[in-house]
Amino acid sequence: MRYVSTRGQAPILSFGEAMLTGLARDGGLYVPETIPTLDKDAIAALAGLSYEDAAFRVMRPFVGDAFSDDEFRSAIAKAYAGFGHAARAPLVQLAPNHFLLELFHGPTLAFKDFAMQLIGQLFQIALQRDGRRVTIVGATSGDTGSAAIEAFRGLDNVDVFILFPHGRVSEVQRRQMTTPSEGNVHALALDGTFDDCQSRLKDMFNHFEFRDAVGLAGVNSINWARVLAQVVYYFTSAVSLGAPHRKVSFTVPTGNFGDIFAGYIAKRMGLPIEKLVIATNQNDILHRCLTTGRYEMGGVKPSISPSMDIEISSNFERALFEAYGRDGGAVAQLMDEMKAKGGFAVSQGAMEWLGETFASGRVSEDETRASIADERAASGELLCPHSAVGVKVAKDHLGAVPMVTLATAHPAKFPDAVEAATGIRPGLPPRMADLFDRAERVTRVPNDLAALEAIVHERRAR
Ligand SMILES: *Cc1c(COP(=O)(O)O)cnc(C)c1O
Repeated sequence: MRYVSTRGQAPILSFGEAMLTGLARDGGLYVPETIPTLDKDAIAALAGLSYEDAAFRVMRPFVGDAFSDDEFRSAIAKAYAGFGHAARAPLVQLAPNHFLLELFHGPTLAFKDFAMQLIGQLFQIALQRDGRRVTIVGATSGDTGSAAIEAFRGLDNVDVFILFPHGRVSEVQRRQMTTPSEGNVHALALDGTFDDCQSRLKDMFNHFEFRDAVGLAGVNSINWARVLAQVVYYFTSAVSLGAPHRKVSFTVPTGNFGDIFAGYIAKRMGLPIEKLVIATNQNDILHRCLTTGRYEMGGVKPSISPSMDIEISSNFERALFEAYGRDGGAVAQLMDEMKAKGGFAVSQGAMEWLGETFASGRVSEDETRASIADERAASGELLCPHSAVGVKVAKDHLGAVPMVTLATAHPAKFPDAVEAATGIRPGLPPRMADLFDRAERVTRVPNDLAALEAIVHERRAR
């Protein structure tokens, strides 16, 4: 299985190389050269399997010979062993034709654990085999960082640096990043927004001298292995609702477009998905693009669903690559225009493709709060604000086929917003009840490339 860049100019890589590299050297994102499919019988055969067995069958065709069957099976087993629910991704029913896919039973209580826990295991196998060491630098709006730190803490061949926007993550998110005591964990609070964190990270990847000197590796949602791990739960949930004999729709709370792009891959692999609905908060660049045809940056407005406070949606580049008929030159041109002018117009043909592939909706802050309160009253479920954005948009798209809304985080990760909406303060699961008693360790950093690179050079082990 070979991986190509969305901008068409970077070396073609194997799964293992694409995973360790993250961002392509032409600034693009790696995607599989061809997308493998599962036939109807293979999909039907996933029914009743453990999450781990289904994960192996769904992901195996993308991995090629980067890992042996045994290595891959054992990485999957270890990745999900620490989850707090035997089903890993259980479905809960909200209303007659509406289901909630709970993706928050991992160690940091958000869906990011599904991919990050697996990547941690796969990195360890690959690095030990090659005797290599890497420096992982990640940017986070809150959940990626905690999931990455949880996955890589204490590993021998890895230093992990996480940039998060100072003062713009929830206390639970911050503490999950600042309380691990392992020497290879470095939490950096940047003076700026998440988009600033992500931009500085991209700058580091584009500074090849630095990139090569520290062995820079990326685990942001642009990493193909992350997208792949997220494809699995589309299959497990759809199959338990009757696929492939019955169609299923999904609504996905979206910021960086990683999770919903995984849904698109599931559809391309043969899963009968009727609708894939993008749900955004007030930072609605994706909804605006789908409705107006212009992809145009606005300023980020902090919201009560902070993990989606994003106005540069990295993985959307993968969708554009498909929408433009896999023309890397066209995508590179759009991205240059984005950099120069802060936006671009999507061609008519590409808009048609996007409109056929995705639907979208946008939810205000008041509507998010109302969604949390309404769902509590209707079904008893306590939603985190991100999941509440999804549920609100899903309700506008309900139809004859079952709708699955992805619940991306546990309500206890955002207790203030949930309490304000319902009067109920959700408690942390017992396994992390001492989070508020642990000592924090964090470095405040300026929004400045040279200063950040100096810190990485100085702190990493050699
Ligand atoms: C990361 C995150 C999102 C957005 O996911 P993307 O796939 O990056 O768009 C939504 N909700 C929560 C809780 C998250 O942590």
